[in-house]
Amino acid sequence: MASSTPPHFVLVPLMSQSHLIPFTDMAKALAQRGLIVTLVMAPENATQFTTLLDEAKKSRLIIQFLEAKSTMGSEKNNRLPSQDLTPQFFDASNMMQEPLENWLQESEKAGSLPHCIVSDFCLPWTSDLSRKFGIPKLVFHTVSCFTLFCSHNIDVHKPYDRVESDSDPFLVPDVPDRILFTKAQLPTLGSFGSDQWTDIIGKFKSAEKSADGVIVNSFEEMEPAYIVGYKKQVKSMWCIGPLCLYNKTAPFHRGNKASIDEHEFLSWLNSKKEKSVIYVCFGSISRLCPKQLMELGLGLESSGSPFIWIIKKADCSPELENWFAKERFVERIEERGLIIRGWAPQVLILSHPAIGGFLTHCGWNSTLEGVSSGLPMITWPMFAEQFYNENFIVEVLKIGVKVGVEVPMQLEEEKAAVLVKRGDVEKAVKELMEGGEEGEKRRKRATELREMAKKAVEEGGSSFLNIMLLIEYIKQLKNKY
Ligand code: UDP
Repeated sequence: MASSTPPHFVLVPLMSQSHLIPFTDMAKALAQRGLIVTLVMAPENATQFTTLLDEAKKSRLIIQFLEAKSTMGSEKNNRLPSQDLTPQFFDASNMMQEPLENWLQESEKAGSLPHCIVSDFCLPWTSDLSRKFGIPKLVFHTVSCFTLFCSHNIDVHKPYDRVESDSDPFLVPDVPDRILFTKAQLPTLGSFGSDQWTDIIGKFKSAEKSADGVIVNSFEEMEPAYIVGYKKQVKSMWCIGPLCLYNKTAPFHRGNKASIDEHEFLSWLNSKKEKSVIYVCFGSISRLCPKQLMELGLGLESSGSPFIWIIKKADCSPELENWFAKERFVERIEERGLIIRGWAPQVLILSHPAIGGFLTHCGWNSTLEGVSSGLPMITWPMFAEQFYNENFIVEVLKIGVKVGVEVPMQLEEEKAAVLVKRGDVEKAVKELMEGGEEGEKRRKRATELREMAKKAVEEGGSSFLNIMLLIEYIKQLKNKY
């Protein structure tokens, strides 16, 4: 790599909002260090990020798109009706391989191959391209080191073999905190476990082993012991997050198009007392059945706290809307509750001073966004690694209150059940928002974490330095390839 050529990184995310969003933030973070960044995306995703990238260009950052068609777009994934679709979804993601390979071939002919591929953990085929073109490859994890290290130790020691049923708790071995899981809660063991799924994860892991290093959307001050633990399992590792804090210029435009006018929700929030509002959102994929949504609504109403409640378009069923109308729910909650049907500008809302708590499904991006905004959280995990994140928020960071879900939600409509009653919601919201001495401690810790997060991405902070280190590492590595 000639010293005058800026390093060129090609970023390959999985086509799902919770992967595209941190990848886009990472693109900005890398471009801010003078790198050329190419983001590979399906055309239907690329249009969602044009505003954000226009902003980047205004700041003279070199970020470009490589459009890679797939047979299944992000829209479909946002409405995943069933976990069974997962293998098909990953097959569809593999369709990006060919356009990327063609582009690399052209780049090779032109003598302008990129210096590094940063691949989503869930796209193992990028290893073939790394080998074929002699380009170093880094794997990007959209989960925490806590999740990575706990699941590694569970895989190695198999503590679940010593319990009788799927609902018996077992301790995660060799970790500094007392972390309990049941088999039912773990993505590869419980009711979602299948040979097909185990096979898919196996491919992801072997691609990670062959990679030149690993990037994690986390920061060193938040989970030091888990970072040290997982670092031993991989060639090299850098924590460069929270990536959401790099997206300062266009917080309203993040992921899908917001379903609310910026001024409308800001004036609503401005009318509320500091730290008085609870924000309720279940991420980009998780679905709730109409009966569960009704229980949640009644719980929020009886909690007495002002709230912003995001209901996905796909969840706005006729059954729910009829219930809202019959109960005159919107009139009943009056000015106290704001319901957004569709997509919310989450990061912008969370950073508003009126927000005092976050009821979350515990996706990793949402968890980090809550931490970066200094918010205590109510945890309502649904599936995948969300039970890990719940344990992390409650048992490690000690900034959360569990709503009390013990098992993953069933995604098939006929199996959907009410797992959380209105009384559970009311109790959790009261505990989080009022909470007495314990509540104050949670809030204080959450504020401290927010300050640590901010420092980590500032000049001289741990994540800031880690980005420099990983760029240097790639420069050195490129000379060896
Ligand atoms: N998100 C958003 N508005 C919404 C719903 C989600 O901006 O109405 C964003 C949220 O800020 C986060 C991402 O979508 O960045 C969801 O990712 P997460 O890992 O939390 O959950 P997942 O979607 O994977 O379940």
